[in-house]
Amino acid sequence: MNKNHLSSKQTLAKPTASFQLGSSTIRSSLEHLKLDGNVSFDSIDHAAKDFGNRYHSLPLAVMHPQSVSDISSTIKLVFAMGGSSDITVAARGRGHSLAGQAQARGGVIMSMESLRHPEMRFYPGKMPYVDVSGGELWINILHESLKHGLTPKSWTDYLHLTVGGTLSNAGVSGQAFRHGPQINNVHQLEVVTGTGEVVRCSDDENSDLFHGVLGGLGQFGIITRARIALGPAPTMVKWIRVLYSDFSIFTEDQEFLISSQNSFDYIEGFVIINRTGLVNDWRSSFSPKDPVRASQLQSEGKVLFCLEVAKYLYPENNYDVNQNIETILSELNYIPSTLFQSEVPYVQFLDRVHISEMKLRKKGLWEIPHPWLNLLVPKSKIHDFAAGVFGNIIRDTSNGPILIYPVNKSQWRNGTSMVTPEEDIFYLVAFLSSAIPYSTGKDGLEHILSENKRILNFCASTQLGVKQYLPQYSTQDEWKAHFGKQWEVFSRRKSTYDPLAILAPGQRIFKKAVAFQ
Ligand code: FAD
Repeated sequence: MNKNHLSSKQTLAKPTASFQLGSSTIRSSLEHLKLDGNVSFDSIDHAAKDFGNRYHSLPLAVMHPQSVSDISSTIKLVFAMGGSSDITVAARGRGHSLAGQAQARGGVIMSMESLRHPEMRFYPGKMPYVDVSGGELWINILHESLKHGLTPKSWTDYLHLTVGGTLSNAGVSGQAFRHGPQINNVHQLEVVTGTGEVVRCSDDENSDLFHGVLGGLGQFGIITRARIALGPAPTMVKWIRVLYSDFSIFTEDQEFLISSQNSFDYIEGFVIINRTGLVNDWRSSFSPKDPVRASQLQSEGKVLFCLEVAKYLYPENNYDVNQNIETILSELNYIPSTLFQSEVPYVQFLDRVHISEMKLRKKGLWEIPHPWLNLLVPKSKIHDFAAGVFGNIIRDTSNGPILIYPVNKSQWRNGTSMVTPEEDIFYLVAFLSSAIPYSTGKDGLEHILSENKRILNFCASTQLGVKQYLPQYSTQDEWKAHFGKQWEVFSRRKSTYDPLAILAPGQRIFKKAVAFQ
């Protein structure tokens, strides 16, 4: 638990203090804070872990806030210490980060799930929305919204994540082509800045902070409340998979679907490389339309591309959905014998990864290293990317799924901190590998990390204009390159809202008391 993953290459300024407060002084100050919640100095090991399971930085304390004022007074205390201490504060949602982003070595972890205020409050009407705590889990919002016949519009593939955690990144899934990512579907936030100030912000009020916090990697404030846009809830979902062997035809169909008016409600896709027993594996959840020919499909030794789409079924629908699906499918060019369909309740569809989580937990295969790599690839370069990576650098998909689907930037909110490629359409390509502990083989951490590195080197050397999503860098120069022309605004916002660089040190962008230029 004591590995320090801060890179020695980091070009960050030294703290300005001439002396350092000892941890016992800081501990005593934290203990004397008047809190609605509580602070713990023991049983804090869990805060040095995350889903990536590769970075482990032990904090000094874990705060369990019960009110916004707990968060504000803690940050005010740390701010008042100024440069006399290098103590930092990191909000922790569910700790589903990949590389220590929600950790703070020797700092205070704000355990956001403890913040239950405000209670979820629904505002129905023409433009319905819900106010939720920044530590709320999306799965809980789903269940509560459904009681009102409503639902958030944009999701992630996995719902046991917090609102503050996904809004600090973007929140991208198969609905993003239509509704934009989750950061598009939020009307207002309440944020505690790096000086401890509690600020309400939206497109119209404190908009600079609002846009900064969305996709802001936790750098400008802790999100304590969010107003999330809702829409009518479907009850059931027609869930469909079809296969392609030709990448060009696959991407043509995906791009056609995301730009067509009469389309599906969810569009994703994934790559299948050298898989055995594919059709058999799917049989438990999907029915092939043509079982005989589907069972003849050979996936071993091949690179296949699966288009995954869904159509939502609403109780008041009075048109023939099946006919509508047939019409859309008739415009696609997938391998005809590879149509697989299923009809499931809306909750089951959205919470699908949780079902896999339960199975993996039982086998002890959930809390293992996850060296994930998420890339945003411009549409004009996706063929070069595929040719260089699929079947070349990556020769099979046995370590985990590779998602690939296009999104349309014209649907995305301008001015947020999120970094995307320049082009209007770009692909999310997610290498979601799991590493078997202690393995030195192809399923081991070292092998997967070296593949990731080869992919990144390939993108850099061929200048594909790729950006990382859920970015992982350790030097400020790398971050500057990541943000490109957005860096100036990003660093200006940091000096405005978190001038001592107290917040989210695990992103390794700024170091406390850095002098800004
Ligand atoms: P944490 O990991 O706890 O925190 C993430 C960062 O946000 C940290 O820097 C933290 O300090 C900061 N933070 C946390 N809470 C707050 C807050 N209230 N205010 C300010 N900053 C805060 N992402 C997608 O976009 N699409 C997907 O489909 C998707 N699928 C996923 C599937 C799985 C199985 C997993 C594990 C992750 C997936 N993610 C996906 C990634 C997910 O969006 C990130 O892990 C994200 O960090 C949310 O996790 P969390 O709530 O646990 O946040």
